[in-house]
Amino acid sequence: MSTTTVLIRSEEIQSRIRALAGEIEADYPPNDEIHLVGVLKGGFMFMADLVRAMSSRVTLDFMAVSSYGKGTRSSGEVRVLKDLDSGLEGRNVIIVEDIVDTGLTLHYMQDILKARFPRSLRTACLLSKPSRRQVDVKVDYIGFTIEDRFVVGYGLDYGEKYRNLPDIAILNE
Ligand code: 5GP
Repeated sequence: MSTTTVLIRSEEIQSRIRALAGEIEADYPPNDEIHLVGVLKGGFMFMADLVRAMSSRVTLDFMAVSSYGKGTRSSGEVRVLKDLDSGLEGRNVIIVEDIVDTGLTLHYMQDILKARFPRSLRTACLLSKPSRRQVDVKVDYIGFTIEDRFVVGYGLDYGEKYRNLPDIAILNE
């Protein structure tokens, strides 16, 4: 395994997520349910911490898509590996993603979920790398904006490793 250098510490991630949860809840009428759709596998930790920072009017589901293979660059190819368990019609849906890089994955997710007639559709990404964007994609809630560095930890992997790190780190060459 390669060495890693911490970029965003666990405590900083937690406090940003608490703020994001507050922002999200303030944007919806108090009695409206909010349905979070997590994108596996990278978004699992962000989802787990985000829902714990929110009130009980939250429901959740997961979807798995393939984007990256074993390398560090996007292939542009997105495939649905696991679909949602329940429908989205009439619901306030928020896509919960680990990171938006080229934007290809998110653009695709937004298109297919929009076609299921949610009442509203928004997106929350823990990380954004704006300098890498290839498609113009709307992200309503962003945890941290980062430079063009390949990061691991807090759900994010390299060849399926490092997902369990509590911090977000840069993988040293
Ligand atoms: P996009 O389609 O926006 O280029 O890429 C989105 C997906 O690529 C993310 O959900 C994530 O799985 C992966 N990805 C993008 N940048 C990184 C990165 O810096 N580290 C890791 N581990 N995955 C990344």
